[in-house]
Amino acid sequence: MIRHIMILTLLLTLTCTLCPGADLWDLAKANREALTISTLFTAQNVTQYLGNEQGTQDAIDWCRVTGVTHVFIESYRDKHTAPRGSLEAARDRFRKEGFEVSGCITPTQVGKLGTGWTAISCYTNAGTQRQLQEIFEYAASMFDEIMIDDFLFTDCRCDECKAARGERSWTDYRCDLMMQMSEQRILGPARKVNPNARIIIKYPQWYDNFHERGYDVVRQSRAFDRTWVGTETRDYDNPQWGGKVQYEAYYIMRWLGGVGGARCGGGWFDPYGTSPDTYVEQARQTVLADAKEMLLFCYGSLLGGTGPANVDKLRTEIPGLFALAKKVRGKPIWGVSAPKVPNSDGANEQYVYDFIGMLGLPLVPTDRIDPQAKAVFLPVHSLKDPDLRNKLNAMAAAGTPILMTDGLAGRLDGMDLTGANATVLEVRGDPRRLLQLGREQLNAIRGKMLAPLGVRFDAPNKVALYLIGDDVIVIENFNDEAVDVRLDMPAPLSAARTLVLPVGGKANLSCEDKTIRLEGLAPRTMVLMEY
Ligand SMILES: [Zn+2]
Repeated sequence: MIRHIMILTLLLTLTCTLCPGADLWDLAKANREALTISTLFTAQNVTQYLGNEQGTQDAIDWCRVTGVTHVFIESYRDKHTAPRGSLEAARDRFRKEGFEVSGCITPTQVGKLGTGWTAISCYTNAGTQRQLQEIFEYAASMFDEIMIDDFLFTDCRCDECKAARGERSWTDYRCDLMMQMSEQRILGPARKVNPNARIIIKYPQWYDNFHERGYDVVRQSRAFDRTWVGTETRDYDNPQWGGKVQYEAYYIMRWLGGVGGARCGGGWFDPYGTSPDTYVEQARQTVLADAKEMLLFCYGSLLGGTGPANVDKLRTEIPGLFALAKKVRGKPIWGVSAPKVPNSDGANEQYVYDFIGMLGLPLVPTDRIDPQAKAVFLPVHSLKDPDLRNKLNAMAAAGTPILMTDGLAGRLDGMDLTGANATVLEVRGDPRRLLQLGREQLNAIRGKMLAPLGVRFDAPNKVALYLIGDDVIVIENFNDEAVDVRLDMPAPLSAARTLVLPVGGKANLSCEDKTIRLEGLAPRTMVLMEY
C-alpha cells in the first residue's frame, strides 16, 4: 500500500512538473517562426549526457519543458572530439522527436597554442591550420548547419606570427589571417565534404575589440552563411564576470543585426555570473533587439550552479518573450543614431554605447554615421570614418543635435564646432561613471537630443527607452528600486499596457493627451505599451 502511495505521489509530482512544460513545448513549436529557443550540447556534454539512452531522454525532456525546439550538437571543444557514434545517434534521435538539429564547433586548443589568451591558437602555424580544417570536415560530414562558438580569433605574438605579419599592424594581420582561415580552412573544406553545409559565425559580446583579434564583421559576415551574436551581459556587479550593463545585449544584437542583415540568426547568452533576474534580462534584451532565435548556453551549465533557478524564471517569461518577438519583428526603430563604424577603436571609451543606452536615450545602433540622422551620438570610435569632418559640418549646418564624448571632442584637432548644436559628454575615459548621472542632468541631455523627435523622457538613470515602429514603446527599469517615469510623445495618443515582464510585474500606466506616465514601475521590470 505504502509502495502504491509512493508511486502515486511520484506520478503526481512528475505530472505536475511536466504539465506547464508540455504547454511550453507546444507553445514553442507554434511560435518558432517568431522566436526559436535553442540550446547547445558541448562536445563534453555530448560525451557525458548523450552517449546513453537515459541521458538522451533526460536531455529531450529538459528541452521540451524549456520550450527548446532547436539543438546544437557540438563535435569539438578544448581538444575533446565527441565520438561519431554519439553525435549521429543524438542527431537522429532529436530529429525523430521533432527538434531542429545543427552542429557546433568551439575552436579552442587547436594545434599550436598562441602566446595570449589561454586555449587560443596560433593560426600562422601550418599544423594549426591543418587541424582546424580537419575539425570542420568532421562536423560537416554529419551536420548541414554548423555554429562556430566565439573563439575563432587569435592574439598570438609568437616569432612565427611576427615574421608573417611583416610591416602590417597586428589588427590588419589578424583580420587578414582569420579571413583566410575562414575561407580556406573552414568554408571551402566544409562545403567540399558537404555541399549543403551552412556555417554560422558567432561573434563574441566584446565588440569593441573584435578587429584587434581578427574578427572582421564586414568581410566575415559576407563570407559566412549566417551570423550569431553574443549577448552575455551577466550581472554588472559580479566580481568575476561583471562590468557589462544590460543594454549591451541590445546594442550589439541590433548593431550586428544591421551588419548581417537577413543572415543574422540569433543571440546567445549563458548563466555565468548571473542571478535569475539578470539572466532573464539577457533574454529580454536579445529578443527586444529583434533576434529570431535565442540560444541558451549550454545544457551542462544550466543543470548546475545558478542554472536551474535561472531556467525556472526564464520558463515563466517565455510566453511573454514570444509575444515580444512578434511586436518588434522587422519594425524600424527610431531615436538617437548611435553609429559604431566596423573595426573602429574605442580607445578609453570602449563600450560607451551600452552606457548611453542606460541613460534613457532611445538608440538606433548602426554601422555608419548618417549625416541625415535627426540626432546623433558620437564617441571616439567615429574617427574611423574618413569622412567624419564633412559629416560633422553638415550636421552642424543642419542644427542636428550631437552628443559628443569629451574623448572625441578632444581629438578633432582644432575643428571649429561653434554654432553647432553639440553637447560634450564628460566620459573622462571611464564610461562607467555615466551611471552616476542624476535625473536632472539626464533630463537636460535628453531634452536636447530628443527635441527633433518631438519626444521628452523624464526618468532616473538605468531606465531604458525603446521606440519601435509607429505603435510600440518599451520601457525597462534596471534599478533595484521602483521608479516613476514620464514620457511625452510627438502627438496625442492612447497607450495600453500589453506586456509586462516579469509576469505580474507592477507598473501603473496613465495616458493623457501626449503624455504617458508609469508610476511605481517595479524593480527590474519591462513594460511594453501599444498605441
Ligand atoms: Zn603565433
